[in-house]
Amino acid sequence: MECQTCGNRKNLRTCSGCKSTFYCSRECQFADWNNHLQICRKEELNIERENYENIIKQLEEELEVERENNRNMQQYIEYLEKMDMDTASE
Ligand SMILES: [Zn+2]
Ligand SMILES: [Zn+2]
Repeated sequence: MECQTCGNRKNLRTCSGCKSTFYCSRECQFADWNNHLQICRKEELNIERENYENIIKQLEEELEVERENNRNMQQYIEYLEKMDMDTASE
């Protein structure tokens, strides 16, 4: 591990965007930013896509549960309406 810009091996911090590139100071990070942005964004986008797919998958599962609940609720409402009609006709 060494600073991406100056090669320093002390006081290293990781880039908070990709967490795989090291800098010894903000000045070094800033100096390398234009180059690094292309690598960093790429990794960030991969992570975003992975998160996005997970979120979509989760939403679809939740939607399926909700759909099932709605179906049950619909049956329940129909049941109640039928009960109402039955009692009203008496
Ligand atoms: Zn440095
Ligand atoms: Zn980065």
